[in-house]
Amino acid sequence: MQRHVEPHHADWEKAGIVDREVWVEAGKQGLLGTDVPEEYGGGGVVDFRYNVVLDEEITRIGATGLGFGLHNDIVAPYLTTLGTDEQKRRWLPGFCSGELITAIAMSEPGAGSDLQRVRTHARRDGDDWLLSGSKTFITNGINADLVLVVARTDPDADGARGLSLLAVERGMAGFERGRNLDKIGLKAQDTAELFFDDVRVPAANLVGQENRGFVHLMENLPQERLSIAAVAVAACERVLELTLEYVKSRQAFGRPIGSFQHSRFLLAELTTLTTVARTYVDECVRQHLRGQLSVSDAAMAKWWTTDLQNKVADACLQLHGGYGYMTEYPVSKAWLDGRVQAIYGGTNEIMKEIVGRSLGL
Ligand SMILES: Cc1cc2nc3c(=O)[nH]c(=O)nc-3n(C[C@H](O)[C@H](O)[C@H](O)COP(=O)(O)OP(=O)(O)OC[C@H]3O[C@@H](n4cnc5c(N)ncnc54)[C@H](O)[C@@H]3O)c2cc1C
Repeated sequence: MQRHVEPHHADWEKAGIVDREVWVEAGKQGLLGTDVPEEYGGGGVVDFRYNVVLDEEITRIGATGLGFGLHNDIVAPYLTTLGTDEQKRRWLPGFCSGELITAIAMSEPGAGSDLQRVRTHARRDGDDWLLSGSKTFITNGINADLVLVVARTDPDADGARGLSLLAVERGMAGFERGRNLDKIGLKAQDTAELFFDDVRVPAANLVGQENRGFVHLMENLPQERLSIAAVAVAACERVLELTLEYVKSRQAFGRPIGSFQHSRFLLAELTTLTTVARTYVDECVRQHLRGQLSVSDAAMAKWWTTDLQNKVADACLQLHGGYGYMTEYPVSKAWLDGRVQAIYGGTNEIMKEIVGRSLGL
């Protein structure tokens, strides 16, 4: 991270996208697909702690543009657990070497929280699917070579039924990228719009079972949310570390600003909350390793830690005074970058709906 990412991140922020070379470098270092079987070029160890370590190290240097978490924590399980042998042979070696960058496209202009309203659709035509529609806010959207697209494959089924996952590959006729979206944070991340106009997707690119896409999504969302929570805790720890250093050196009224009781109490409170968050997320990771992480525990971890991340970043920015508002101070970027954590992966309001439902409400 220090050698191949940190020196370039500011340039990638200006460019709005990371260099593909960093993916290949990560592949060489064995950072992509640690849980993919060795025969396909992966690390061969299914242990989510490797994913968490990588998420934390990326967060520790503030490299918010790297879409490795999306690739490793979110897309990988679809390919390793649902992919056919033929799909695995075709995609996983590139997935692990960094030559095949992935994305997952659920959200649409008219369907975010309410995924059942997905309008992107595909109809069978011989051995192919003909896919039409559009997606938005797609992480790795410009760099992606393989996009798992959530599409309605049964027009007569209502709601959650009748959705499938189709793997759309770079270069397929009718597959176009829209804008690399201009965001307030995550400046080096290529979050994009995608358009599909009668894209001919071979039936061999159906991932998982036809019309069971929603079930596949529900099965994989707890790991996605745990990954977001792990990043949130690491982000809290990083910004607290930066701020502690700052308040010890900055002087006002003849003493370090950290020595005012208000600053001391505030940092004590935020450090306590962060320690509690780490303990809970670590416990969720342990549950996940045993295959026992419940949907509601993952939702609790996601909403609580990302709310905390925003609270910590905001308080720490304030402790920096005017310097906190300057882009050259990393706390300002932490404040902007962290905001989206409460929005994607299911908004925090949706997380509370999930927890509420688990209470029988
Ligand atoms: C930077 C970024 C990256 C993203 N990456 C991806 C990606 O890779 N793939 C992908 O598919 N999507 C991605 N998303 C999309 C993201 O998952 C959605 O933005 C999110 O799910 C919310 O959907 P929406 O934007 O349509 O908001 P809406 O669903 O319109 O929600 C608007 C507001 O209404 C609230 N709301 C909605 N329903 C309820 C309810 N039932 N009860 C209470 N409140 C409710 C929401 O909480 C929110 O506050 C990304 C988004 C961003 C910003």
